Formats: sequence, C-alpha cells, structure tokens
Amino acid sequence: MPALSTTVAERAWVELDLEAVAANYRALLRLAGGDSAVLPMVKADAYGLGVRQILSVLEPLAPRGYGVATAREASTLRSLGVERPIVVFSPLPPGSEHRVVQDRVTCSISDLAGLERLARVAGSAGHGADFHVEVDTGMGRCGFDWRHIEAWAPKILDRLGPVRWTGLFTHFQASDAADRTVTESQWRRFRDTAERVAKIVEAAPEDTRRCVGASGRLDLHASNSAAALRWPEYSADFIRPGIFLFGGRPATEVDETLPSPRPVASVRSRVLLVRRVPAGATVGYGATHAARRPSSWGTLGIGYGDGLPRALGNRGSALVRGRRVPIVGRVSMDMTVVDLTDVPDAAVDDVATLIGTDGDHSIALEEVAGLAGTIGYEILTGLAPRLPRIARPRRPGDPPGR
Ligand SMILES: *Cc1c(COP(=O)(O)O)cnc(C)c1O
Repeated sequence: MPALSTTVAERAWVELDLEAVAANYRALLRLAGGDSAVLPMVKADAYGLGVRQILSVLEPLAPRGYGVATAREASTLRSLGVERPIVVFSPLPPGSEHRVVQDRVTCSISDLAGLERLARVAGSAGHGADFHVEVDTGMGRCGFDWRHIEAWAPKILDRLGPVRWTGLFTHFQASDAADRTVTESQWRRFRDTAERVAKIVEAAPEDTRRCVGASGRLDLHASNSAAALRWPEYSADFIRPGIFLFGGRPATEVDETLPSPRPVASVRSRVLLVRRVPAGATVGYGATHAARRPSSWGTLGIGYGDGLPRALGNRGSALVRGRRVPIVGRVSMDMTVVDLTDVPDAAVDDVATLIGTDGDHSIALEEVAGLAGTIGYEILTGLAPRLPRIARPRRPGDPPGR
C-alpha cells in the first residue's frame, strides 16, 4: 500500500472535511423538515475543529444564527464578521453584560437577577438587548423551573423595555438514551410552559407585548443532535445541533439505529523516525512494553500534548500505509511509538492516522473515545491548539459535494 500522500509540512495536524460538515447540516435540515431552521452550536471553537474554517462552510448555508457558550466566543464570531444572531447558552458571569450588549448578542436568562443586570446595561447602552429564557424541564443546571411558571413569567414581563424577550428553550438531558420517556416528558413540560407563557403574554399590556418576540411570539427551540435525529417532531422553530455537524455520533445507547454523520475530523501525524530494535527492547516512560521479536518501531510526532489520549498507550492503534498498527508503550506529551514490524515498507515521512481513514481501514472518533473511557465530544474539544486545522482538498472518489 503506498503511503498516504500529503503536502502538509507539519509533524501532526487535524484534517477537516468541510464538505462533510455541509452534508451533515443538510441531512439534519431535511429531517427537521417544515419551517424549522438550524442554529449550529459552534461553542468551544466549533467543538475543537476551529471556528473560522467551520464558519466558512456554514455561512453559505444561511443558518438561523449560531449558538455559543461564552461572551468571549460570541465576540470572536463578531470579529470574524458574523452578522447573524448569536445566542450565548450559558448564564453570564456578572460583569460580562457590557460585552454582549455591545456585540448585540442574545443572552439566555435563567434567573431574574441575571435579567436585571442585563436590563441595566442594555438600558444605558441605548439600543437594548435580546434574550431567550431557558426552562429547566429536567436538566437541572440552568433555567427557570417548569413547575412555577406563574412565579417567574410575569416578573420577566415587568422588566421588559430596555430588553426584548425573543425566545424560550429547554435542553434535553438524555436524548441519546435508549429510554425515550425522559425526553418525551421533558418535551411535554416544555410545550406546556410555552402555552402558559403565551397566555400570560397575551394578557399583558400592549407596550409589554411589543417587547416580546416578533409580533408577540417567542422562538421555541429544544433539540440537540440526538433529539433532532430521533424526534424530528420536536424541531420547533430551530434545532441546535453540534456534534452531528462535526462528524460525531451523539448517542451512546442507540447508535446503530441512528443515521451516521459523515466524519469531519481526521487526526494525522508524521512518522519522524523508523528504528530497528532487538527482541527485549523496551519503549517509553516506565518501559511498559518490550519487543517480543526483532521489531521495527515508528516514532510519531503526536502525543497527549496534542490531545491524543494518554489512555491509548498499549491499547490504541494508528493506520500506516493502509495497515492498522498498535501503539506500543505509553503515549508521551509530544511523541507516540507504533510497532511497524508488519509494515516493512513504512518509512520516515509517512503519514500515520490516529483518527480517520487510510485505505480500507478507519479509526472512528468513537473508537478512540471508547478506549479513553469518554465520548467523542471530549476527544474533539481536547484537540490542542498546537495542531493546525487544515481543510482537506477534494480527492478522487469523494462523495458528491455542494
Ligand atoms: C452543546 C449544546 C447543544 C448541542 O448538543 P449536541 O449534542 O452537540 O448536538 C445544544 N443545546 C445546548 C444548550 C448546548 O449547550
């Protein structure tokens, strides 16, 4: 098998298939159907992939807006030229209201104190601010309690004027679980909340109603990737997918039954050295592996300092020249050693694939996550900044793109 060809002059990198992001987006949009739109979640630097490149593929798809987790992430999007709505999905720490008001970012509000802080800053800025209200239907980390709507909804209305209430949302805690009943009951609680809030808004004075949504109606949204795949009927005004867009499987328990995303990120590194060693030679910190036969070891320019889980030591593999080879010894910060004895033509400068495809073999994100005792989300967001993110050029045989 010939070596994977590349012109990338790096020791290791993340290769992005941007066409796959667009394909995954369209697959979700088709499922959601009807009038639903997509608000891609691009928090944590677009799940570790690099938000600038991800925006270059999402912007032409005309999403409804973007979701992020922090005021700083929202500012980054604005500085990259994003003019669409941006919603921050975590409560803001007191003091960061100026930033979001200035950047015209939509906050999510989970308590009255947070709303009052926002209203104070928005009032003095002169151009107001939009916010969405989160309803806690069972996730338990933020949001107003779905059981006590009458206690909070009128108080929110009392504070409108400097701020506009434009959306209502909830977040599912187990939309990837085999048991569907938890999500179904969260959805019922959310629908019920939305209906009761609508009645409370209807009964409010005209000038208050003018500060609610567009012509008195709030945007409703709930679905993350797993919910969008499994309950298209919950898509509401828009869905909020993250992981599926970026090639990860959201589900743990029901994986096989769900549509698969096209993989987006490959993690590659170069073979920096190939060394012949005698039987008995040991490798890495703690000498946790010894050669059982005369062997050929390849030193890869990637380690846990790049986000390759240290847990892959003596357990994980790499693909070299289309063959699967084992990682031997511990993964260190900057380097990892693989056993190349069964790939006799392997050579310095070959490309090793730690996640992704080479020839007929693939190492899935979820395989690496499983070996590391975690989920694909954590592997992606753990890819270190020192790995350059490089858009993969189209190759012959690629599925048709945009
Ligand atoms: C991260 C996040 C999502 C996206 O979840 P995925 O499982 O990655 O699709 C949706 N909504 C909120 C509030 C989030 O924080």
